[in-house]
Amino acid sequence: MIQYCALASGSNGNSYYVSKNGKGILIDIGINSKQLHLRMASVGVDPCSIEAIFITHEHVDHIAGLSVFTKKYQIPVFMTKGTYESCAHLIPAYLINIIASNSCVQIGELAIYGIPKIHDAKEPCSFLVSDGKTNIAVLTDLGSVCANVQRAISLSDILILESNYDEFMLKNGRYPYYLKNRISGGMGHLSNSICLKALLENKSARLKHLILGHLSGENNRVDLVYETFAAHSTTFTLSVAERHQATSLYRYESVEIHREQSLQVEKIGETIVVQESYFLSGSI
Ligand SMILES: [Zn+2]
Ligand SMILES: [Zn+2]
Repeated sequence: MIQYCALASGSNGNSYYVSKNGKGILIDIGINSKQLHLRMASVGVDPCSIEAIFITHEHVDHIAGLSVFTKKYQIPVFMTKGTYESCAHLIPAYLINIIASNSCVQIGELAIYGIPKIHDAKEPCSFLVSDGKTNIAVLTDLGSVCANVQRAISLSDILILESNYDEFMLKNGRYPYYLKNRISGGMGHLSNSICLKALLENKSARLKHLILGHLSGENNRVDLVYETFAAHSTTFTLSVAERHQATSLYRYESVEIHREQSLQVEKIGETIVVQESYFLSGSI
């Protein structure tokens, strides 16, 4: 059985948990280690059950608690070379594993696929976690919806997707012009309406649970996000991750057989298309 939750999600800190039969991974540690322990305790996750940490990029809301937590539990950390160059000082070298942004790493029964994406960091990638039957994609910090992200959405049974800001609130809010531009200029984050469009254009019949996350504290509200998506959630469960607490710990067991599908990803910034055939399928 797969379990998953957002321990933290929002512009002030992100950390996502996925496990299979009690052995788990974390994607990002963007809240301090003390907070992370409290959030884990609130959903009954034992820190000692974490076998690997995957880092999407070097922004502080994704690495704030990385150093302390990693050193305490001596957990291997996986990140791209570009991300590593920006946070090498945080982690002992022997715990670092450099991965390509489109790599696949096997941790126990879980395969973790890198999804190269567009964001204003050095070499960012999101991750899709699969046990061969259930695919859980964690897609936040998206400047725009590239082909890799579209593909990952279409392969998701469980999808944690960024719905960062309400366009009206950002436009009329108190952020300085340069910051408004940074957020909405194609290298920052997705608005509620762009997120909805990306979802509707790319989701498949596989989608069972959508968790909207990485909400801005300044330029978005939980009720607005629900309002935007509620009418479209007739075939899947809709949740919105709140910024100051973990979501519930969800359990999911696939009872469906999926056709064999491959995930082709493109390295951002390179002209060649890397043909990686990922078989995200399984049978029961
Ligand atoms: Zn972020
Ligand atoms: Zn970021």
